[in-house]
Amino acid sequence: MIQHPGNVFVVSAPSGAGKSTLTQRLVQSVPDLIFSISFTTRKPRPGEVDGRDYFFIDDARFDAMVAEGGFVEWVQVYGHRYGTGRAWLEDVLGTGRDVLLDIETTGALNVRHAMPEARMIFILPPSAASLEQRLRSRGKDSDEQIRIRMEHARHELELYPAYDYLILNDDLELAYQQFEGIVHAARASRERMAPTARRILEGF
Ligand code: ADP
Ligand code: 5GP
Repeated sequence: MIQHPGNVFVVSAPSGAGKSTLTQRLVQSVPDLIFSISFTTRKPRPGEVDGRDYFFIDDARFDAMVAEGGFVEWVQVYGHRYGTGRAWLEDVLGTGRDVLLDIETTGALNVRHAMPEARMIFILPPSAASLEQRLRSRGKDSDEQIRIRMEHARHELELYPAYDYLILNDDLELAYQQFEGIVHAARASRERMAPTARRILEGF
């Protein structure tokens, strides 16, 4: 188990629900909230940068990291492997900064075992029809990929009871306010603030 002063936020959502839109704005707006860069064996998409979007590594390197316990969690999805690196996460959390993990549901449930205090956030699309509409309007996926993503979305949505917070992403502004509010509330939690409260008390 990892001991640390920083908060861990885990965010999952069916593809197309608005997770990238919300998380990008959050990490740009909130200080000391760091986006966790995962390791993956998939190839970079156009525009993706190694060390910014992912650490792109080959199968042999991924195998070696698995063998040496280098991942907090890892999964195989859509034919590729993805993992959250342990060393990097421990370093950031040790400095008291917060980390946001954008990972799919299986990995999220494994993080909960490794770090029971992690705050789990799930982003809900307003409906199946609007999710399909968003996937189409994003224009990144073929009809067949959209069908697979919609099927996968149902399985992911079924796991909502494992999450602490469910953000309905209908009105984007309201969804964002809730997302940011969760981070601020965690920063004011008793667990996080107890050392400060004790220090203040000692001054009396
Ligand atoms: P994800 O990262 O979950 O796959 P994106 O953030 O890429 O999803 O969003 C999918 C599409 O839906 C994008 O075109 C985005 O602009 C749009 N979108 C996101 N949130 C909303 C919202 N609240 N209302 C309408 N469209 C949205
Ligand atoms: P993509 O290939 O579209 O970038 O990501 C596919 C899926 O993998 C997304 O649901 C994303 O959240 C998830 N993912 C990315 N990194 C990790 C990781 O380190 N661990 C897990 N479990 N899932 C990840």
